[in-house]
Amino acid sequence: MITFEEALKISLNQAVVSGIETISFEEVAGRVLAENINSDMDMPPFDKSAMDGYACRRQDLALNLEVIEVIRAGIPPLMTVAAGKCAQIMTGAIIPEGADTVIKVEDCEMIGVGSDKQSTIRFTGEKTAPNICYRGEDIKTGELVLEAGILLDTRHVPILATVGKVFIDVYRFPSIGILSTGTELVEPGEIPGPSQIRNTNAYQMIAQLGKIGIDSDYYGIATDDEDITRKMISDALNNNDILILSGGISMGEFDFVPAVLQSLGLNVAFKQVAIQPGKPTLFATGNGKFVFGLPGNPVSSYFILELLVKPFIYKCMNHDWAPPVLRLKAARQMTRKKSNRLSWMPVRIDREGLVHEVEYHGSAHIFSLSAADGIIPVPIGKTTIEEGEFVDVRPL
Ligand code: AMP
Ligand code: MG
Repeated sequence: MITFEEALKISLNQAVVSGIETISFEEVAGRVLAENINSDMDMPPFDKSAMDGYACRRQDLALNLEVIEVIRAGIPPLMTVAAGKCAQIMTGAIIPEGADTVIKVEDCEMIGVGSDKQSTIRFTGEKTAPNICYRGEDIKTGELVLEAGILLDTRHVPILATVGKVFIDVYRFPSIGILSTGTELVEPGEIPGPSQIRNTNAYQMIAQLGKIGIDSDYYGIATDDEDITRKMISDALNNNDILILSGGISMGEFDFVPAVLQSLGLNVAFKQVAIQPGKPTLFATGNGKFVFGLPGNPVSSYFILELLVKPFIYKCMNHDWAPPVLRLKAARQMTRKKSNRLSWMPVRIDREGLVHEVEYHGSAHIFSLSAADGIIPVPIGKTTIEEGEFVDVRPL
């Protein structure tokens, strides 16, 4: 049996980049950028006021200041601010010639309206920042703002809008098919008969992929019949780059998936991985297609999709994906009996940031996942995590 790290390496080495397409900048969240993006302008493009207030000369702060004009955002100033003068200015407006400081409206007192309708103000504060955002302080013309290969999210949309980049080259999502195996399965809208259960894996996998933006194709339930399984796998592979199926790969009499894949000309790279849950995990390739066989038990298939399949999907988009990890302390000692496999355990994080085990009866216990905030790895050879020991929580 190979280690999880070996399994990950074997599969990632086979990944093929899916190609590039051009999409609108509003739709980029979840996509991997396939081009460098440079700014077409300085940002801000002019010295701009950060406050509503009065633009003046710092050396005049002690004087009464005559207001010479009102400068609105979007309309350039007409006058130069000279000694004893100021211009009323709005946030986002251009700083007028001569001024080096904007005093906040809250720090000013109106001391009179002149005969020509010009008013006079006085600074009442003790000190003031310049309150100016200087031209190019955020970004300069030509500067790289987004680098090819990054995973885009909603925070990148305003950057693309700022630099006027409305059509973007991104890597295509690989096309993914989903298949469940098992004669005992019925679809969730049906009432299971005796010895039947509802198909949870397919919908869990569809939802996991949907969360990263992938719209997968669902092919239904293959009963544990070799010919039916072959027909359904072969249909799915004709239409998709990657097939993710669940069940039918362990040691049972009716676990036909590995033999069927071989009969279709695919090479099974592995069908067991030293991970818990998730030992019956398969990866096969051939004819430019990839198959992940996930364990039948839903917690296992959830974990394996997160840990093994997702990095592969991102690799097909030319991105080395690594989810964030929180290094937090265990609230109590946690133990396990066997340590011959890498184990992942569902955990909860309390308000102090301490990590607790959640009730977990094993790989069919989907309710434990919904009670968890994250999962933690326990490496091969380790049976005990001590109270207060740091653990790496991968948030769910
Ligand atoms: P298998 O790997 O096919 O032997 O399945 C292992 C366990 O997972 C069995 O108890 C199956 O009934 C269960 N199982 C398999 N596929 C699914 C599924 N799609 N949804 C829920 N449970 C499943
Ligand atoms: Mg089965």
